[in-house]
Amino acid sequence: MPIRVLTDEVAAKIAAGEVIERPASVIKELVENAIDAGASSIHVEARQGGRRLMRVADDGCGIASDEVEVAFARHATSKLQSVEDLEHIATLGFRGEALASIAAVSQVTLLTRAEDEEVGTRLRVEGAHVVRREPYGHPRGTTVSVENLFYNVPARLKFLRTDATERKHIDNLVVRYAMAYPQCQIVLENDGRLTFRSPGSGSLLDVLIEVYGLEAAQSMIAIGSVDEDQDRQIHVSGYASPPEAHRSNREHITLFVNGRWIQDRGLTFAVEQAYHTLLPEGRHPLAVLRIELPPDQVDVNVHPTKSEVKFQRQSAAFRAVQRAVREALVAQVPIPEAWRPAAQWGSEGWQERRGILVGAGAAGAALDLIPRRGGEATQPWFPETGPARTEKLPPLRVLGQLAQTYIIAEGPQGMYLIDQHAAHERVLYEQLLAGQDGANVPSQTLLEALPVELTPGQSEELDEWLEPLHRLGFEVEPFGGTTVLLRAVPVILARTDVRASLTSILDELAAGEEPLAEEMDARAAAAACKRGAVKAGQTLALEEMQALIRQLEETTLPRTCPHGRPTMVLLSQTWMEREFGRR
Ligand code: ADP
Ligand code: MG
Repeated sequence: MPIRVLTDEVAAKIAAGEVIERPASVIKELVENAIDAGASSIHVEARQGGRRLMRVADDGCGIASDEVEVAFARHATSKLQSVEDLEHIATLGFRGEALASIAAVSQVTLLTRAEDEEVGTRLRVEGAHVVRREPYGHPRGTTVSVENLFYNVPARLKFLRTDATERKHIDNLVVRYAMAYPQCQIVLENDGRLTFRSPGSGSLLDVLIEVYGLEAAQSMIAIGSVDEDQDRQIHVSGYASPPEAHRSNREHITLFVNGRWIQDRGLTFAVEQAYHTLLPEGRHPLAVLRIELPPDQVDVNVHPTKSEVKFQRQSAAFRAVQRAVREALVAQVPIPEAWRPAAQWGSEGWQERRGILVGAGAAGAALDLIPRRGGEATQPWFPETGPARTEKLPPLRVLGQLAQTYIIAEGPQGMYLIDQHAAHERVLYEQLLAGQDGANVPSQTLLEALPVELTPGQSEELDEWLEPLHRLGFEVEPFGGTTVLLRAVPVILARTDVRASLTSILDELAAGEEPLAEEMDARAAAAACKRGAVKAGQTLALEEMQALIRQLEETTLPRTCPHGRPTMVLLSQTWMEREFGRR
């Protein structure tokens, strides 16, 4: 055959094939247009799995009557003008292809009225040709009806599945948009029957109740409010299932990036990683996560259906997701129990016992905690801090120390073993990060400035590290060559080998690939706490242990150290009773 340029009609049908694969793709594009138009209510209707008819009605801004035709032209959009605009896309659409593609392979009727117009417009388009146009009364907003999808593309029509299957795709899609836009009320009608309605209250949890039922939704773990400190550039929020409610496939991991539903194997894996050791082999969690980041850090123009994106910093996105979910799980999943998966603490009667136990623990509250170190009165290991007790930990009464490493305590469910180093690390870590917000981390000036020799690699990066080091409480200044002068150190490191402490923090900073301010702060702080925290093998007085427990209770995530290891394990009373033959 000779080479020929395809007719517009053939080219349009081929192009449409990339965007419109099945009925659900039409619904997706129309719902996205409605959301971009600022709709607060969207009504979706499908007949025979969408083959016969699909209709999406919104109360958004509408289309001006002199723009209705051009809206159907290929590459016609009101959402983008220049190539630069592509770098900060804030709308779901931007390619200007959807209406043209839909119209090329179906019969479309558009009813619309813009805010400032008295009468709206009705436009009928069949196989990309306008067949009729007339004034039409319509409330503000747009209604697009799509009939007989692929009537003129038999090849595609053949590949449609059963009505039930196509309908399922539509159901899933509508539910996803309802979850991504809880402030918008989305209603779905299939063959004349109402099958889904989101409340439009603005709360994702309300949508989840509609989708998964009240009980399941309420047992979900909230993500995101726990720790926004670590990576402000990528914000992750949403809900994830408790470990006991697992599924047989990954389909229930739903991800939105800047309001766009996306499929991303990497991030799906990040969610699964967060459940590491928490789920049985081969089982998968349920999660609905919203990932928000500056639009210029994500490329949405990867695929015609816009369901894949490219992150500028893929690994940072991965870590942000994994960490947000992990931290929420860690904070809300029971303390690990030796010998047996934990029962729910906080259940039977611990509120009653709490009073007694707290009273017992308060005995040492007034003591002046001065560690005995060569008679020198330095900072106590665990200075008393304010009350503000949260209830993330059961009340614990300290009984003693084991192997100069673990604190033994009594709690509502039995005996708790607390790793003194891990617990102190957690306390210092949160104090340090909190102090950085208020820009006054306690720092101790050295009597004499101390020269420290850096490696060539370290001194090259020093400029970038001065700020985070300063926020941590270090005063470091370049001294020529690879030498720096150390003038002040964070108080928590005052009694360590300060030279070695600085070096190990620099090593930690060098190990991070992403020089994000918050990320560096967190890494540096974690490294500082590792050095500064009380070590295993150190004898602690009863009062010191009591003070440490009280400070641990005040932290946000008391159950793990900054590196994710548990701070405590429970030896339950139930277990003891069984072992001693009392039950
Ligand atoms: P895109 O969404 O990528 O801009 P579309 O082909 O989906 O391309 O839509 C073309 C244009 O038509 C949009 O840019 C918008 O201006 C207008 N439009 C489409 N649907 C709606 C709607 N429901 N409400 C208001 N305007 C709409
Ligand atoms: Mg669009």
